Amino acid sequence: MSKGLTSRAEDYSQWYNELVAKADLAEHSAVRGCMVIKPYGYSIWEKMQSVLDQKFKETGHSNAYFPLFIPKSFFSKEASHVDGFATECAVVTHYRLKNDGTGNIIVDEEAKLEEELIVRPTSETIIWNTYKGWIQSYRDLPILVNQWANVVRWEMRTRLFLRTAEFLWQEGHTAHATREEAVEETEKMLEVYADFAENWLALPVVRGKKTANERFAGALDTYCIEALMQDGKALQAGTSHFLGQNFAKAFDVKFTSKEGKQEFVWATSWGVSTRLMGALIMAHSDDAGLVLPPKLAPIQVVIVPINKGEEELARITVVADDIIAQLKAKGISVKYDDRDTQRPGFKFAEYEMKGVPVRLAIGGRDLDNNTIEVARRDTRTKETMSRDNIADVVESLLEEIQNNIYQKAHRFKEENTTKVDTYEEFKRVLDEKPGFVAAHWDGTSETEQRIKEETKATIRCIPLNNEQEEGVCILTGKPSTQRVLFARAY
Ligand code: AMP
Repeated sequence: MSKGLTSRAEDYSQWYNELVAKADLAEHSAVRGCMVIKPYGYSIWEKMQSVLDQKFKETGHSNAYFPLFIPKSFFSKEASHVDGFATECAVVTHYRLKNDGTGNIIVDEEAKLEEELIVRPTSETIIWNTYKGWIQSYRDLPILVNQWANVVRWEMRTRLFLRTAEFLWQEGHTAHATREEAVEETEKMLEVYADFAENWLALPVVRGKKTANERFAGALDTYCIEALMQDGKALQAGTSHFLGQNFAKAFDVKFTSKEGKQEFVWATSWGVSTRLMGALIMAHSDDAGLVLPPKLAPIQVVIVPINKGEEELARITVVADDIIAQLKAKGISVKYDDRDTQRPGFKFAEYEMKGVPVRLAIGGRDLDNNTIEVARRDTRTKETMSRDNIADVVESLLEEIQNNIYQKAHRFKEENTTKVDTYEEFKRVLDEKPGFVAAHWDGTSETEQRIKEETKATIRCIPLNNEQEEGVCILTGKPSTQRVLFARAY
């Protein structure tokens, strides 16, 4: 393994970039803002997908697929939606190239599309145009559909996983007969995301609503989960939108109610993306590399033989095979690394970099003593143990690690959430002890905008079930009834 990582304290952003590369997760591609997700990184994403997919199905949703291209005219139908996405759209104008006669390949101007196509930045418009044909009566509702797809948003400042021009995600798009049902769906899916973040990513999140400024273009309400990274910056990790009847009105999607009346359909949409990979990396990892929660680790246990010669390796392998069988019987994924091209120390560093939660090492002495060395990645501690019941020990250790990683992140979030009552204190905390800052705000977009311009901090959310408390806005001194969470964010 080449030399280690820049430390987080030295340069957090450099640490992140090096870690993504050295843990073999992803790399920049030849296309500006677009990344190559490498096999190890993709295998973590696949685990996330399979857990989320199961949760969507358990809550009644089915997967479907809609086109990558959206006719430009569809976008203009919902005014605030087009406003929100217009500045970051990739547009297809032609459908053919030709040879200009001198060997250069150029765009064939004769093959110009009559109507330009937008590479989807999100699919509300094409989907609601489709739902028009699917919905006639209340009997056709609800529609509970999810799509796994790639989308393109022409982002100017990109960073691997956290913000890329093309990203992978899922987008749920549901249609309902009543406002109440749509709001219930919006909240339900937010809770699915929060549960996934906390119990799988081991990432504590704040559930909240966005302010009007930060709302999804075309939504009446945007719910979100917000997480805190180790540098004290916030990351929006998932969103669930209550879209009201905006898209039904834009695409004229009506249904006949039980009472025989024509009504517009109510909508929600919700999504999480490969940004969750960034959240996972930034929230838990350390200066030795990735720290993965066991539930999402592609390899949960690695076994490394420490042998002198072939004959000893053969004897160690017999023991290892037995342990592998026991672990596999418990559904634990395990890799036996008996490569003779690398030394054990190199392998140890490599699996630390890749965040494998548990490492077992077996040497010649362990063969005689019925022992094994057990090392855990989260605390970087190791212990020599008896091989009796080793599979049970590893199983409960994986649970303990999952729990410990969560608790550590939870403590970090608690310790880095600060209540302030004045603008001076607000600015000082942002610089000296970055994290969530809970402060009173007068509820206006103008104040929010001014605070953003002056401090780079945005309102991450108005927490759900927020405590009501009399106070005054930190900027304007106007009365306020609750604190909102500010932070500088990715
Ligand atoms: P939105 O449709 O804007 O609500 O975004 C849906 C999800 O995609 C949210 O969880 C965002 O965090 C995530 N997301 C938005 N833009 C990007 C991007 N450029 N790269 C990666 N993830 C993104």
